[in-house]
Amino acid sequence: AEIKPVDIHEGIDSTLLILQHRLKGKSNRYPIEVIKEYENLPLVECYAGQLNQVFMNILVNAIDALEEKYSARDITQEQNSLFSIPKIRISTKLVDNYVKITIVDNGPGIDESIKNRLFDPFFTTKTVGKGTGLGLSISYHIVVEKHQGKLECFSSPTQGTEFVIVIPQQQTL
Ligand code: ADP
Ligand code: MG
Repeated sequence: AEIKPVDIHEGIDSTLLILQHRLKGKSNRYPIEVIKEYENLPLVECYAGQLNQVFMNILVNAIDALEEKYSARDITQEQNSLFSIPKIRISTKLVDNYVKITIVDNGPGIDESIKNRLFDPFFTTKTVGKGTGLGLSISYHIVVEKHQGKLECFSSPTQGTEFVIVIPQQQTL
């Protein structure tokens, strides 16, 4: 794999396409609404396959979190008072010479006590066999080490979870 100029939106969209069956929702799940707020972006110099892996990891985590919060059973219990539908919002923008990709879900959020371990290899809160705990540590490596970028997480139990990926539009080699 080598660095070449790519269309970031194409990478996100093809990842969403792969995840389509999970976004649509299974029998006892609610479909997830995906909201795209794409700004016009220049091509970005990156390892396209690796960056798609990052989108995949973050989106799968968002889907897992939303499935956990919005199972049909939970919604019946909550009645309709606090009801909102599961959503993922993906926005992109150019800030100076950096591309900023924000992926937000309105899932259960991340507990303050585990926030500092999110990017650790093998850290997972998922049941055995479901999570390897490697997705975010690999993503961090790809964004920060391979692309000289930034990967940050903001989360609260009321707002859900936001991951922000920032990568330089051009790689200095
Ligand atoms: P895995 O998905 O295999 O558990 P990851 O490295 O991808 O490993 O994620 C680590 C942990 O971070 C998850 O187990 C989960 O507790 C938490 N997490 C990541 N993304 C989210 C999210 N969108 N909402 C809630 N928790 C999340
Ligand atoms: Mg994961």
